[in-house]
Amino acid sequence: MLDIDHLASDQTVAFGAGIRRKARDHADAAGCGRVLVLTTPHQSDLGLELAEILGPMAAGIFSKAAMHTPTDVTAEALSHLQDAGADSVLSVGGGSTIGLGKAISLRTGARQIALPTTYAGSECTPILGQTENGVKTTISDPKLRPQVVLYDAELVATLPVEMTVTSAFNAMAHAVEALYAKDRNEAATQLSLDGLAAFRRALPEVLADPTDLSARQATQEGAWACGTVLGQVGMALHHKLCHTLGGALNLPHAETHTIILPHALAYNAPAAAEELAPLRDVFGQDDPARAMWDFAASLGAPMALKDLGVTEGDLDRMADLATQNPYWNPRKITAEGIRALLHRAWAGRPPQA
Ligand code: NAD
Repeated sequence: MLDIDHLASDQTVAFGAGIRRKARDHADAAGCGRVLVLTTPHQSDLGLELAEILGPMAAGIFSKAAMHTPTDVTAEALSHLQDAGADSVLSVGGGSTIGLGKAISLRTGARQIALPTTYAGSECTPILGQTENGVKTTISDPKLRPQVVLYDAELVATLPVEMTVTSAFNAMAHAVEALYAKDRNEAATQLSLDGLAAFRRALPEVLADPTDLSARQATQEGAWACGTVLGQVGMALHHKLCHTLGGALNLPHAETHTIILPHALAYNAPAAAEELAPLRDVFGQDDPARAMWDFAASLGAPMALKDLGVTEGDLDRMADLATQNPYWNPRKITAEGIRALLHRAWAGRPPQA
């Protein structure tokens, strides 16, 4: 179990199966008045349940949250917020729903309560990515972090197994890149290793019994640790590649992270051997990239970009895009190296430095 109290900051973070039923108390303690509940269309029933739990504090439900926070959806949600006289939002869902809550807060100062239902980690970060006319921009502002985060293991127990695995790899990618981040620090490194160890231990247990709430809570603790480091230190090649592929080819977010992670790790391993050495204790293997690839395979994760509909012909353009703007990475980025990496990830071949 992670030492969360010790690491807690300006956020109230609480864990517990069924803790969503205390959402009203938490909203009250955070100074919320009237609360608009946010969900995706797929999770609108959950929104109804949360509105019921909030009782008289509920100011309605807006169920149109979408991937990459399109600004037209935010505009529609804002008019609901105003019509309902709400001063706060409760986002129950994954990164898309929590992103909408941040976008509303950016424009209105609304208080945010987040109940994550995936492991993506947006609830821990001051980061918001928004899309307008297909162009994604990212901003970071400490005010964007939700004031309250409630991790209810029952809410991730509904995640289908395949999404459980890919969402967990999305989270683990934050921790892996935090280990070799330019601005890394001792606390973030320890948190990254704790987060990775939590997933390494609990994911096989979750797959054996997806309704095991104690294993599910352990994965949420991992998600909290990995999301927290995402908000603290800079990311590098892996995140750049995933954003490039996701943006240009409209690929699913978590699956792309899952496939790319072992390959980005292999690329960077020679330049970050010391920083990555503690992964030996987490995965019990010397080669961290191979360990990550084996772990993904053992969980039945997607392993090849070609299975996401990427064609071999896309790869050169992706390599060019990913190497266009210089950015910090522990190992020098070369177009040739990235092309080779992408070809291996496309074919589902093992990672190689
Ligand atoms: P998501 O929020 O897009 O959800 C994907 C789908 O799964 C949705 O239909 C959702 O309703 C459904 N779903 C979510 N939880 C479920 C559950 N428990 N059971 C059944 N279905 C469920 O997915 P995501 O991967 O969590 O978020 C991706 C988005 O978050 C991307 O836009 C990404 O850029 C963003 N993100 C932002 C940050 C940040 O710090 N700003 C961090 C990570 C991700």
